[in-house]
Amino acid sequence: MEAEVEIEKVKKSFGPIKALKEVSLTIRKNEFFSLLGPSGCGKTTLLRIIAGLEFPDEGVVRLGGRVVNDVPPHKRGVGLVFQGTAVFPHMTVYDNIAFGLKMRGYKKDEIDEKIHKMLEIMNMPFEIYAKKRVDQLSGGERQRVEIARSLIIEPNVLLLDEPLGPLDLKIRQKMQIELKRLQKRVGTTFIYVTHDQGEALTMSDRIAVMQRGEVQQVGTPEEIYLRPANRFVAEFIGETNLIEGRVSGDNTFAADGLRSVILSSSSNPENIMGDAVLSIRPEKILVGDESAGLVNRFEGVVEEKIYMGAYAVLKVSIDDKMALTVQVQPAEKVNGIRVGQRIQVGWSPEDATVVKPT
Ligand code: ATP
Repeated sequence: MEAEVEIEKVKKSFGPIKALKEVSLTIRKNEFFSLLGPSGCGKTTLLRIIAGLEFPDEGVVRLGGRVVNDVPPHKRGVGLVFQGTAVFPHMTVYDNIAFGLKMRGYKKDEIDEKIHKMLEIMNMPFEIYAKKRVDQLSGGERQRVEIARSLIIEPNVLLLDEPLGPLDLKIRQKMQIELKRLQKRVGTTFIYVTHDQGEALTMSDRIAVMQRGEVQQVGTPEEIYLRPANRFVAEFIGETNLIEGRVSGDNTFAADGLRSVILSSSSNPENIMGDAVLSIRPEKILVGDESAGLVNRFEGVVEEKIYMGAYAVLKVSIDDKMALTVQVQPAEKVNGIRVGQRIQVGWSPEDATVVKPT
């Protein structure tokens, strides 16, 4: 697949702070690509470097195959969407979206036609919304105007920095799905900065997980969730059980309380030997009869039972040495289970991953 954005060994410091240590990444054409990581990991700095608002100390940035290190922002063919700040609230939806086109000398009927089309894509009928002032819109609608305003000038790449940040959870989740649909429809490459792993998993074709100025892993949501490259990624993405122990030569894992956990080739892709951490997702652990026949099966005691609506969570302690978090769906399956009861838990070798301890 053709590369749209190439970041090669990019370094950036602010005084003593190394915001980007040596980042290399390739983002493909038409991809919905997310930069995901905790606050301060360098996501925004990387986005600003792609936009041309910040310059790397070292390294190369290419857009569409062209080195752009010295190209100013407005000549890079990128659009930018930040947290709900760029629109003019007292102006109409139409005037906000038309802004970039007017600056570029488009004629009135061309502008009309483009805005018609754009509002249709945004699910905001022209007749209803064009004349509304932005300060009369809901948060979600306002955000769509923000995006429309950037997309109307047809950038090759749209850079979005936590654009859904100020919205409340329900609208956010709705907008996540809309944004993904929109991106597929327009085909523009999206680079999306977020610290919200759920958001990144929902929307992205691929994700780069960052920590302290470094990329920890690049992969599809599924790869990152099921095959985390290291302990940080395993912990940062979703819930997981992390068990410290050792891998021995016959590809088994042992920890306090777990004598011999059988791994598969896919659960140890890096062939780690010696000290390791086993990561197993709560929903991959089966309990009671459902665990019968699994090669990794252990007896434990139910310490806690928590009802979560669609599912239930059990804390199961093994040999008093460790507690496993188990997610059971649907929640009714735990109706017959009581706290204090002895119970079997188990998982398939391919459902766990071992990562290096650091
Ligand atoms: P957040 O999710 O909080 O926005 P981030 O991952 O986007 O975090 P960056 O904004 O890229 O992180 O910042 C990375 C590091 O660089 C931080 O330690 C930040 O304090 C520092 N930094 C960023 N911009 C500047 C600046 N202009 N001057 C000094 N330090 C900066």
